[in-house]
Amino acid sequence: ASRPFHPDNTTIEILGHVVGGDEPTIIAGPCSVESKEGLIEIAQEIKASGAHMLRGGAFKPRSSPYSFQGLGEEGLKYLAAAREATGLAVVSEVMEPGLVDLVADYVDVLQIGARNMQNYALLKAVGKTDRPVLLKRGFSNTIEEWLMSAEYILSEGNPNVILCERGIRTFETYTRNTLDLNAIPVVQHLSHLPVLVDPSHGIGHSRYVTAMARAGVAAGAAGVIVEVHKKPEEAWSDGNQTITLEEFDRLAKQVRDTHRLV
Ligand code: PEP
Ligand code: MN
Repeated sequence: ASRPFHPDNTTIEILGHVVGGDEPTIIAGPCSVESKEGLIEIAQEIKASGAHMLRGGAFKPRSSPYSFQGLGEEGLKYLAAAREATGLAVVSEVMEPGLVDLVADYVDVLQIGARNMQNYALLKAVGKTDRPVLLKRGFSNTIEEWLMSAEYILSEGNPNVILCERGIRTFETYTRNTLDLNAIPVVQHLSHLPVLVDPSHGIGHSRYVTAMARAGVAAGAAGVIVEVHKKPEEAWSDGNQTITLEEFDRLAKQVRDTHRLV
């Protein structure tokens, strides 16, 4: 993952969009996949606002075992249907090595969640696929550990790793996490891999998400991944940090404007 080994920036083409290219990458969608119709509607709206990819969890890493755990394969089918309807690439999390092939059959990008950043068996398994991997930073992990986790994927033969800063744990309790903007220029110095920011998990409150999306791109991020829902207050998970489709339209414009200045 280090620059001396690979001086040029890595770019990753996914359904015609280049991550790490001239345009900022914009990924949006609900925290969890819910209904098929609702997901397709969100996909159509975010596409009209300029998104390149649709996100949505089908296998969810919930803090409580009693919380909604995701629709599983049914959710992956809805994501595939949304791709079919819109042409957007789809991103979804995989949590177990045994499910990597199943998830890879449906999605364009495999997401490794913050809680699994150091699940080495899982990292090796996604490293054996031909799907790009969105590797989230663990909320208690150093930049060095994060890049070593990327190395696990690369060393299995998969060169297409997209890093994602999603906030780390600090003493602050007002926000859910603290989006580590410091990590963006540091990672760009140390590594050739593209890095995105997730301001939704990073700050945890919808009203601040757009400001932190701009900040991430101003710090040099290659783009953003944000949680969006038609009715955030009715979302099955992470509604607090989820923005509306109208708010997303403004966010996408501001991300493009900010990226032009960097
Ligand atoms: C998510 O993207 O919905 C998610 C669970 O993210 P993280 O792994 O960063 O908490
Ligand atoms: Mn979420």
